[in-house]
Amino acid sequence: MKHIHVGAHVSSSGGLWKAVERGVAIEAEALQIFPSAPQNWRPTNHTPEAYSRFTEARTAAGLGEVWLHCIYLVNLATEVPEQLDKSIAAVVNALTVADRAGASGVVLHTGSHKGAGLEASLPQVVGAIERIFAEAPGAAVLALENAAGHGGTIGRDFLELGTILRAVGQPRLQVCVDTCHAFAGGYNLADPVGVQEMLQEFDREVGLQHLAVWHLNDSKQGLGDQRDRHENIGEGRIGTEGFRVWLDAIARVPEIPANTMLLEVPGFDNDGPDLENVRRMKAIRDEVEAAG
Ligand SMILES: [Zn+2]
Ligand SMILES: [Zn+2]
Repeated sequence: MKHIHVGAHVSSSGGLWKAVERGVAIEAEALQIFPSAPQNWRPTNHTPEAYSRFTEARTAAGLGEVWLHCIYLVNLATEVPEQLDKSIAAVVNALTVADRAGASGVVLHTGSHKGAGLEASLPQVVGAIERIFAEAPGAAVLALENAAGHGGTIGRDFLELGTILRAVGQPRLQVCVDTCHAFAGGYNLADPVGVQEMLQEFDREVGLQHLAVWHLNDSKQGLGDQRDRHENIGEGRIGTEGFRVWLDAIARVPEIPANTMLLEVPGFDNDGPDLENVRRMKAIRDEVEAAG
């Protein structure tokens, strides 16, 4: 059984290294941060000193993987050329920051086709990803995140993500699976049969070897509701028992490279991932590992 790290999204305001302090304060074993303010196109200019302080703090804390979450404005399926150029530049910037910070990669919401279907925008999305890799030729991977499905977001089903991965055909293109999005998207990962069906479908459409990282969120919405509403661990429709079922299943599949899960929960003080959520998930993880 594979050992899974419980990480969390934390703020890096005040300097990249501050993210490490915030992560340590909530006992996170891995981190996710934004490269810059997520609702703003303007990139943050991280200084060489910020990168070195970050690396020192991360090493001292003994943290596992670090991931960046790309800003929210990106839409690789946009019909507006200017928005596409800005989107490509934002992902290139995120990958560049990831490389400088020694992060594993960047998680990206691919975008929305606004109900037109992926087929119409596929050539544009593939072309954009190819340009991104050409302009950011580092080692950091780009992990497309599955979506809950509301508003024509790309990647509700694994077929859409697999179609993009196959069309690009680049090992740097990977997938991030968010437990809340998957559940709201119709995959019942809280059920022993449902989670096996989900993994089989993922393997068929994407390939388990491309599952790079997990986003860990309970869901306020029910199975298949297609709404993206994160909830604290154990307080939503997946629930403590659901996470136990899911974790027990995924930890037994050696073909899945992902061994990091990143909390993006609202927090009990509505201040983002907190100590209580980290401890709840670690308790589930420790219980699953102890049972073997
Ligand atoms: Zn997510
Ligand atoms: Zn979400």
